Amino acid sequence: MTDVVVIGAGNAGMCAALAARAAGADVIVLEAAAKDAYGSDSYFSGGLFRLAYDSLTQIERITGPMGVEGAKGVEDFAAYPQADFLSDWGRITGYRTDPELSAVIVEQSLDALSWLAQIGVPFRSPIVVDGSGRARHSRPGWHGGFIEAAAAGPGLTEALLSLAEKADARISYGTTAVALEQVPDQRGWTVRCRNAGGGSTAFPAQTVVVASGGFQADAEWRARVLGPGWDLAKVRGSRHNTGGGIRAALAAGAASHGNWSGCHAVAWSVGSGDSGRRDANHVFERESHPFGVTVNVHGRRFIDEGSDFGAYTYAKYGREILAQAGQTAWQIFDAKASDLQTSEYRYKNPEAARTTGGSLPELAHRLVARGVDAGSLAATVAEFNRAVDESVPFSPYIKDGRRTSGLAIDKTNWAVALDTPPFEAYEVTCGITFTFGGLKVDTRARVLDAAGDPVPGLYACGEAVGGLYYFNYASGTGLTSGTVLGRIAGRGAARAAKRSAA
Ligand SMILES: Cc1cc2nc3c(=O)[nH]c(=O)nc-3n(C[C@H](O)[C@H](O)[C@H](O)COP(=O)(O)OP(=O)(O)OC[C@H]3O[C@@H](n4cnc5c(N)ncnc54)[C@H](O)[C@@H]3O)c2cc1C
Repeated sequence: MTDVVVIGAGNAGMCAALAARAAGADVIVLEAAAKDAYGSDSYFSGGLFRLAYDSLTQIERITGPMGVEGAKGVEDFAAYPQADFLSDWGRITGYRTDPELSAVIVEQSLDALSWLAQIGVPFRSPIVVDGSGRARHSRPGWHGGFIEAAAAGPGLTEALLSLAEKADARISYGTTAVALEQVPDQRGWTVRCRNAGGGSTAFPAQTVVVASGGFQADAEWRARVLGPGWDLAKVRGSRHNTGGGIRAALAAGAASHGNWSGCHAVAWSVGSGDSGRRDANHVFERESHPFGVTVNVHGRRFIDEGSDFGAYTYAKYGREILAQAGQTAWQIFDAKASDLQTSEYRYKNPEAARTTGGSLPELAHRLVARGVDAGSLAATVAEFNRAVDESVPFSPYIKDGRRTSGLAIDKTNWAVALDTPPFEAYEVTCGITFTFGGLKVDTRARVLDAAGDPVPGLYACGEAVGGLYYFNYASGTGLTSGTVLGRIAGRGAARAAKRSAA
């Protein structure tokens, strides 16, 4: 019998596995994907981790020297205190986030990420110095404190998998957990699995950590709980995150928790695949909406693109796009925005779904082939341009209050007339990242039952946990949550396994 069986080899599961190994437990990680086609959400991610810190020195201990001393505006990044992280998290979730879980994640964010760096995951700072000598986040419009895995999600994954190999934590690829059965007298678990090549295997374990992600890749489950139309969303990450671990734990007595009708969903290029593409996933990111306008097929705006920093709006605007005719929208920019767009907008391949025009009428005319009402689009932009308050200076670094007035939906920050050619339109749809409903856990990552008692020997972390996010999400929280709760789960599962074996 293995001490700890971890279901899912993403960031949360690997953090649990490494923490359990370090605590002396033997560990097997079950992973649904085949080894040569492996791609968890953590793999597809941008590798940005949100964390609380009190000085840049604390960050540099993780990332190495940032090289930003003396840069203008560097004081904006000097600290991101725990109180600010918690208040940003609370504000954007309508103060519904589980207060104890979010507090533990925030309080341990610096320590857990320092641990990850110490054991060998390479990080860098996302703070760059731009051409004017100003320090800014590499993703303009991002807000909060961050570090970034070197080489993003693939770099993070490579580091975690090679650490697991060195630590002798075995990974069984092509192994999908389908059921969890408690051994009588609470003496461990049997994890029943379907093998990729056919057949099944049963893994006996003292303790189990469920780290198999959300249910976003199950179109039917999405439509049933997120609502009509959600079966049509594109999946940004792993096609294996169909909620198998959540389903098995619920059937074994776990309580469900959180915002089951909510999810993280973004503007995502229509040229993407139906789930994450290992060769080119980052090409499809479209997070620069604060610096342009977004219209639907009727040529009408339907969101306040500048209601908050992009870090606090991108994860909720996918839902708004899904609600538009054809589940489609176009992000329109003029040449002034090109330095503010994230690097993903630089790809000009067909999957970028990009249309350009030397004038707005030309751009609008070219979009007719995509079904867009060109006359309405031209009128929307002309009306938008007239409504911009030119007296307020534009600044991408703060919520500048440069807004429109008198529109049906005003843009309340970063409003700039679209008047400088060339103009660009990027066609986007809704890309779902992960679902918010999941398993109920306590601050020791122990899965709870309906009575609020721990289910013996059962732990959960990562997207499989419910109660952390409601309606919306602060960028970079997913990976941090997976690391903090993954480490807690791994240590707890290792200790419980030793007790149970004694
Ligand atoms: C395109 C993209 C960009 C993102 N960028 C960021 C970012 O920069 N910062 C951030 O914080 N978050 C980001 N996220 C979100 C972040 O990736 C997730 O919150 C986090 O990686 C979740 O980690 P996890 O370990 O819970 O899930 P995953 O990393 O998805 O791991 C779950 C694993 O479980 C496996 N699995 C599923 N079901 C089973 C089963 N029944 N049996 C066995 N194995 C199973 C899956 O194959 C997968 O490998 C991004 C997500 C995407 C898709």
